[in-house]
Amino acid sequence: MTTLLDIPRLNDFVQAFGALLDTGPDEARVVAEGGALLQALVRHDDWLPASHAQPDAARYSQYLLHADARERFSVVSFVWGPGQATPIHNHTVWGLIGMLRGAEVSQAYALSADGQWQADGSAITLHPGDVEAVSPRLGDVHRVHNALAGQTSISIHVYGADIGKVKREVFFPDGSSKLFISGYSAPALATA
Ligand code: FE
Repeated sequence: MTTLLDIPRLNDFVQAFGALLDTGPDEARVVAEGGALLQALVRHDDWLPASHAQPDAARYSQYLLHADARERFSVVSFVWGPGQATPIHNHTVWGLIGMLRGAEVSQAYALSADGQWQADGSAITLHPGDVEAVSPRLGDVHRVHNALAGQTSISIHVYGADIGKVKREVFFPDGSSKLFISGYSAPALATA
């Protein structure tokens, strides 16, 4: 199998991840074994094309790197400009986050007894090579921001669906929420 981008490291990852899902793993195995595959992918920062690594001054970018034909998983590069952050949001499916370049901070949130979203536990800082997992079972609500004030950070995300199409939610501190379908960013035009 080759991906749209035809990058050997990415192709190998997609093939291995698909083979793992072919075995019908439960979520714990996806997180453990898929997480190990993602960790191996982000151990090397020499493969992501500039078109899918470009920050947007207006907001964080999410470039689709691969969508499984059966929508079992998708692979996305998440590109943070300086100071950029997500709202508090959920995923509704399992997700694996592997840090490729720079650093990001993930803070889990939970509903308090009086119905407000509040930070739950300590924030986690991911550095290159680190992998974090989210899911409705593990904890699905968080807010993420670029940990570096002056530079771009990039993480590679794998989700158990074509995440750009998934109906999910953003949450506001007062406990309210709204529907959210992320879509994908258009890859930057090649300059060389
Ligand atoms: Fe997230």
